[in-house]
Amino acid sequence: MREKILYMFFALLVAGLVGCAEEESGEVIVLPRTLSPFALYPNDLANNDSASAHVVEGLQLVVHPKVTYTLSFEKDPNIEEAPILQLFRLGDMVDDGHVSTRHVRSLEPKLDNGRYVYEFLCEELDRNVWVTSLVQDGDFYKGTTRKARLMADGPYSDTLSLNLIVVGKVDFQEEGMAVDTFARQLLDGFRKYYTSITIDTLYVRYAHEHPTLGSKFPANEPWLAGRSSDDYFVTELGGWPEPALKYALDIVLVHRIELDWVLGYSLMYGGSLLGGTGSTVVIGTHNKTNTGEMGVTTASMISTAVHETGHFFGLRHTTATQADFEVDMDYSNYEDGFTDTPYCRDLLASGLLKTQKVKPVADYARLPILRGRFAAKPAFDVSDCPDARNMMFPAVDDEGMDGFTEQQLEHIRKNLRVYPH
Ligand SMILES: [Zn+2]
Repeated sequence: MREKILYMFFALLVAGLVGCAEEESGEVIVLPRTLSPFALYPNDLANNDSASAHVVEGLQLVVHPKVTYTLSFEKDPNIEEAPILQLFRLGDMVDDGHVSTRHVRSLEPKLDNGRYVYEFLCEELDRNVWVTSLVQDGDFYKGTTRKARLMADGPYSDTLSLNLIVVGKVDFQEEGMAVDTFARQLLDGFRKYYTSITIDTLYVRYAHEHPTLGSKFPANEPWLAGRSSDDYFVTELGGWPEPALKYALDIVLVHRIELDWVLGYSLMYGGSLLGGTGSTVVIGTHNKTNTGEMGVTTASMISTAVHETGHFFGLRHTTATQADFEVDMDYSNYEDGFTDTPYCRDLLASGLLKTQKVKPVADYARLPILRGRFAAKPAFDVSDCPDARNMMFPAVDDEGMDGFTEQQLEHIRKNLRVYPH
């Protein structure tokens, strides 16, 4: 299963789209050819060559209510006339594996600095997926659409609360560490690193006390995410049913995640503070290894929670992992696109992150890199990477992380304002 918000539509990749072909206005509606798996995330600055190539025949855009978006790409120098952008909302599956669609908008671009720019306000009531087609003379546009970008400007606040949900029996590596002490340190960690937004309150709730699901989560058993229940994200705990916690980000604390060397995970651009898919960030007190398990320091757990929350806001790794490439199906996204985060050419070349053999479910997982683990490659040490201490480096450095850069912090603030809360 692909670890991004679009995976709910994964089964429909080859599905056809159905809808009416002509509006009453006489405008010819050109349905996306198929539902392609390519998507653009809001405010993402990575190269996205594959997504760019699919604007014409069907690119997915995750959109939120009341947010203003601009989709833009480079004008094809060989074609003077500008194409019309048609946007479709995905509906329900109908018969024969077809998905119904509804035409929501047709837009003409502005030309700005050699780029076509299409601006629209999303008037949906919930998070939704819209699909594009680009039309000229009643057919698909024949020109190129290079360097596509989706920028988003939302009306929501830049304040965030957190809800630490303790699942089952947890034992911290540090003897005598209580949940409340850990929670205070976690809050301090978020306030230390998330300086572009306000981290308001951190709540602590226990899964066994959940008003409707409590009996599923026994207090005295260690929870193994992905084994105790199939859902690695423990999604059903997202969106805790208490008014004060309604918009808090749910950080789920379990004994361990049932994947080797995975410290934590979240969906890339999770996009929901209201429960449901993509609403949880998962961390463990222990790390599954190929021979058993080992305890994780609280410092590493906190750094992992901060890192995974970065993915929740749509931040990429500073240097892509093999799993990242596979999720995007795009080798042009080898780094995050920010000019103030370096990336590690040697890490890409080394294949080190490839040797982790992480299952697809851990696409945006965080891996601890043990220096002794790759004895066959003594010439390379990940701590030599120029981005090794950036919070979005794919491996955790136990000597500490420097945090986020200015551009990463600005991205976090922008995307928090896109998520309804
Ligand atoms: Zn990561």
